[in-house]
Amino acid sequence: MSDSFHRMWADLAPVGRHPGSGGYRRYAWTGADTDCRAWFRAQAEARGLLCETDRNGNQWAWLGDRTAGDAVVTGSHLDSVPDGGAFDGPLGVVSSFAALDELRRRGARFTRPLAVANFGDEEGARFGLACVGSRLAAGQLTRQAAFALRDADGVSLPQAMEAAGHDPEAIGPDPERLAGIGAFVELHVEQGRALDLTGDAVGVASAIWPHGRWRFDFRGEANHAGTTRLADRRDPMLTYAETVLAARREAELAGAVATFGKVAVEPNGVNAIPSLVRGWLDSRAPDQAALDTVLAAVEQAARERAERDGTDVAVVRESFTPVVEFEHALRDEIGRILGGSVPVLGTGAGHDAGILSASVPTAMLFVRNPTGVSHSPAEYAAEDDCVAGVRALADVLEGLACG
Ligand SMILES: [Zn+2]
Repeated sequence: MSDSFHRMWADLAPVGRHPGSGGYRRYAWTGADTDCRAWFRAQAEARGLLCETDRNGNQWAWLGDRTAGDAVVTGSHLDSVPDGGAFDGPLGVVSSFAALDELRRRGARFTRPLAVANFGDEEGARFGLACVGSRLAAGQLTRQAAFALRDADGVSLPQAMEAAGHDPEAIGPDPERLAGIGAFVELHVEQGRALDLTGDAVGVASAIWPHGRWRFDFRGEANHAGTTRLADRRDPMLTYAETVLAARREAELAGAVATFGKVAVEPNGVNAIPSLVRGWLDSRAPDQAALDTVLAAVEQAARERAERDGTDVAVVRESFTPVVEFEHALRDEIGRILGGSVPVLGTGAGHDAGILSASVPTAMLFVRNPTGVSHSPAEYAAEDDCVAGVRALADVLEGLACG
């Protein structure tokens, strides 16, 4: 089992790796993405699987009759964030093929069709929207909206697809395909340290936290930084600063996370009091009530401070994804297959599994990440833990597809 995993891992490792940063730049519909897709096809063909690319650019490698229905599907994605790590995505795809190898070694007899999937453009690094392949398939992204997506160079998604040899004309909802799937299981490196803290190599996902992005516009009055008396200022930077601290405080109180990671200042001069500070808040919490509490408290703190500073605050919600609860029946079944002692944990990160869960019974397995670092070249999982992940996935697939 570890042999096939290591061979694939070594084979895929150089694809799209930037020599300077050591991180991965596998963006949708670029040369590196094409190379990842060729790698996937080669793995499928080497195993005698039927490899196809669906209308939305997702790859599928089938064992058994793909039209029979009630298929068990596993997999993840191969694209990356800018200078991403080696594990986010590829660990799930490589483990899926390795788990199939392990099941064949065990002499498993499949009673349901099985597929390994590589979902396209999961990270959204190029076009700014995550999970494009699964969103399109699930009908959560319209064809029209997908056609309007552009990268930083002004290249549209359909142009990029076409340049990479994929016909964009037929993108859109794919309900027949999803209706043929009885269960989807995605293995993923953990993007946090929960498993490290419990001392487990593998865990099962309970839910993806509700999360959203809010834009805070703090407006004041631009003026001279040298000649304007402190008492006469209407400085929105002060209101912003207090709001950042409030976000941290309120997130801690609610067991949530909240981050101001992007800020824009006008006029953005060293010697000018700003007229506008625009800050973007990303917040995620275990449940909707906690997230609502954080947002309400941060907004209240901003308004109270604005009164003191003589500034104005406007808050706009730019995006929101409600909680995704993975199907309890499938989760319980996986718990039984893995022996019942496997930890169940929530996550603040989005995944294709979260998108598909609206259409298909879906579950996730997490593999321990000792530092919790993700979306960075430092992202890491130990070899033994990766092998434990493959074994767990093989057990799950055997329990589901060979029953
Ligand atoms: Zn991922």
